[in-house]
Amino acid sequence: MNELIGRKVMKKELLKNIDLSNAIHFSAMVINGSKVCCGRCGCIHPLEAVELQQQRYFCPSCIQLGRIDSDGTLYHMAEVIGHSRKVVFEWAGELTAGQQTVSDQLQRIAAEKRNGMVWAVTGAGKTEMLFETIRMSLSRGERVGLASPRVDVCLELYPRLRKVFPEEDLILLYGDSEEIYRYSKFVLCTTHQLLRFYQAFDVLIIDEVDAFPFVNEKMLQTAAENAIKEQAALLYLTATPTKQLLHLSAKNELEMVVLPARYHRRQLPIPMLKSSFHWRRKIAQKRIPKELMNCINKLMKKNNVLLFCPSISLLNELYKLFSLQMPNISIASVHSKDEDRAEKVLQMREKKFRLFLTTTILERGVTFDQVSVIVLGAEHPVFSASALVQIAGRVDRKSNYTGGEVWFLHDGKNHQIKQAVKQIKRMNQLAKEGGLVDELCIL
Ligand SMILES: [Zn+2]
Repeated sequence: MNELIGRKVMKKELLKNIDLSNAIHFSAMVINGSKVCCGRCGCIHPLEAVELQQQRYFCPSCIQLGRIDSDGTLYHMAEVIGHSRKVVFEWAGELTAGQQTVSDQLQRIAAEKRNGMVWAVTGAGKTEMLFETIRMSLSRGERVGLASPRVDVCLELYPRLRKVFPEEDLILLYGDSEEIYRYSKFVLCTTHQLLRFYQAFDVLIIDEVDAFPFVNEKMLQTAAENAIKEQAALLYLTATPTKQLLHLSAKNELEMVVLPARYHRRQLPIPMLKSSFHWRRKIAQKRIPKELMNCINKLMKKNNVLLFCPSISLLNELYKLFSLQMPNISIASVHSKDEDRAEKVLQMREKKFRLFLTTTILERGVTFDQVSVIVLGAEHPVFSASALVQIAGRVDRKSNYTGGEVWFLHDGKNHQIKQAVKQIKRMNQLAKEGGLVDELCIL
């Protein structure tokens, strides 16, 4: 029965033929006039748009988790009261003064069961700042969830958390996961998986809250709110907060903690802007824009170059052109539909390529040593201000300084570009005022 505790699931999602008589039953979908509301994700659809047959309806919004029908039932059992216990914690690292302040604030917010947001710059070492809060909450017998919109972030976090909490029964849940669900006090999952939880967590941390798909899917935001207990702490982590989150913080509905500096005490690199007029037309004419070529040659003297392209088709075109024009340089490209994506990213981590072409797929979640970054067509709508801040944040993440630079090549500066630069400068200013960065000394 305990697989129902803190969950809200359909019978077909349960493995065994368990006795459901003690479970709380919810209608899978509720019809109201000409509309139907999904009991799992809360989305509302017009009846005629989602009819299966004979007045049976389904919900297309959360179909990724398996189809929910209007004649179905969702089963739930209330969470049990936890007891304080000993949690084995094995972490030998040390937090910087800035990280420690954030960690202390987070523990307080979690203990007070409030909502909070950590606004920490890219490369600040966010995960380490969570460890103490997780330890504290688990020790109190609480149920803790850590969710990210991106499965690759979950996969990266899993071994790290296992190491720090070696005796905890950490469960990892995502769409293609082979793991069979079991009750656990410590859950790591994608934000979609939160749709299956109901009043479960005492502390729920949502990482990369500004990332796709969480940022533009109201359903997932509702899922996070439903997955926590009435008295619980919901903590958001971000390097580029959305307007909505800033608004909540201004209304005091969300306590904001800012860490404007990286652990290595250097300022964030400020993007250099350079116009590259008609870059798209030049590529269509099978020419590499001169500004792009100059920029690559200059940056390659010190570092490898990550080149962000606005679309897969442009990336493929450019890859062909570079391979012809720079036959002696090791070049690779990667995008979301690339089957060898993981392997190529690994090779780039090992510095196998001098020029690495990518789409926004690598805008966050990856750390490469010794890179400079160029965004071609920074004015393209795919590059939101938050994407540009994340991309700029790929540079100078490691403790050794390599003089990495960030260049935005554009065919006309737009609001998003200006906003991104403004946000980075603001963080640097805050870091300076807080005494969290050192003057850069280049020998
Ligand atoms: Zn639904």
